[in-house]
Amino acid sequence: MTVKTNKIENKFEEITKVKNKWCLCDENNKKIIFNFCEGYKAFLSENKTERECCKYTISQAEKHGFKNLTEYIKKKTKLKCGDKIYAVNQNKSIILFVIGSEPFENGLNILGAHIDSPRLDLKQNPLYEKNGFCLMDTHYYGGIKHYQWLTMPLAMHGVVVKKDGTVININIGEKDNEPVFYISDLLPHLKKENGNQEILGEQLDIIVGNQTTKKDKESEIVIENLKKILKNYEIEEDDFISAEIEIVPSGKARDLGFDRSMIVGYGHDDRSCAYTSLKAILECEKPKRTAVCLLVDKEEIGSNGATGMKSRFFENVVAEIINLTGTYNELTLKRTLTNSYMISSDVTAGFDPSWASSYNIQTDAFLSSGLSFNKYTGHRGKSGANDASPEYIAKLRTILEKNKIFHQFTEMGKVDQGGGGTIAYILAEYGMNVIDAGIPLLSMHAPWEVASKLDIYHAYLFYKAFLKDMK
Ligand code: MN
Ligand code: MN
Repeated sequence: MTVKTNKIENKFEEITKVKNKWCLCDENNKKIIFNFCEGYKAFLSENKTERECCKYTISQAEKHGFKNLTEYIKKKTKLKCGDKIYAVNQNKSIILFVIGSEPFENGLNILGAHIDSPRLDLKQNPLYEKNGFCLMDTHYYGGIKHYQWLTMPLAMHGVVVKKDGTVININIGEKDNEPVFYISDLLPHLKKENGNQEILGEQLDIIVGNQTTKKDKESEIVIENLKKILKNYEIEEDDFISAEIEIVPSGKARDLGFDRSMIVGYGHDDRSCAYTSLKAILECEKPKRTAVCLLVDKEEIGSNGATGMKSRFFENVVAEIINLTGTYNELTLKRTLTNSYMISSDVTAGFDPSWASSYNIQTDAFLSSGLSFNKYTGHRGKSGANDASPEYIAKLRTILEKNKIFHQFTEMGKVDQGGGGTIAYILAEYGMNVIDAGIPLLSMHAPWEVASKLDIYHAYLFYKAFLKDMK
């Protein structure tokens, strides 16, 4: 879906001073924002794992003329300005490039978001029977409040890889005629002993069956039926060993509020920034500096592993790209990375009136106030933060003003209340300039999170402007 330019009539001073910026939008602006968010809602509803997001990105990239890096390498095609390339890492992270007219050494303009979200993962030997129920054992992924995952319909997304290498895609619990899964909670009537008990990670097992097939056997009777049913999905019990199955909330992203100004959805963190960053690079044509969009996995558990930001994948792919111009050497690669500018596109905490005491009303991000820039994140005295330099921020202010982007410069909660991190510090290790800029959320990391449509749209506008104008 292409979107017409959103012409904003307001003065820049108004944009920086007004908190809730819907009042700065006329009916036409609102229509464009709402229209854009229809595409986002569909994306969020359909793509609930990093693999699904990666697959979606490949299909969108190919529609927009991007070609797989492996094709370029195989055919030894020489790169030229305007070429569009993507590189996939184990089907779970992906990088897109639009080659610019300037030499690589001048640096890249990089947008980086993550496509993994907090969830429950099935263990490798999940299936068990207890008191007539069949359950599956999970291990949660990322920072969750355990109790939030109880008593709601859950869906199962992922892959099972058979011994012969065949990949079976699993997606159960999204369509109306499909079953869902469930984690139970204690009824309030029986709360005396266990009513205020903390929910432990080990308790987060999903109910998957309750039907017996034999009346004479006392144990293993539900599980036998379950194993039979799993065969309909071409899954044998042993196959869970080589599977990656994610338990996520079942259902679609929906408009929130009578005014429909917000969206309730699973995985706004960080697919709201991933979608808007992807849109920005898909629409990027012949930039001066080479434009890059990183969509990575494993951010929620520390960016480790082969598909996380800490892996060498990004650096290696940049080396391959430079090599395709015939000018590769180690120094060119190092200069390219050091001279790059990066936006770590990741969500932040939006001020929540129901939990006001954890926030600083003066300095925290508000929903509908625009894209939120965090100079630093980190915990307790900025520990672990990438602290963006004011020289870099000054350049970004020029872009914000030129493009009339709705934005805010913020922190994440009161000092010493907690904290957070993104992939920002990892790219900063190359010596490049990096800053966090993302969409503020309510209930971050809950099964259903909340974002403002206005913020989503202005994130997209900024990311697009950054790829084009940052120099
Ligand atoms: Mn995030
Ligand atoms: Mn997160």
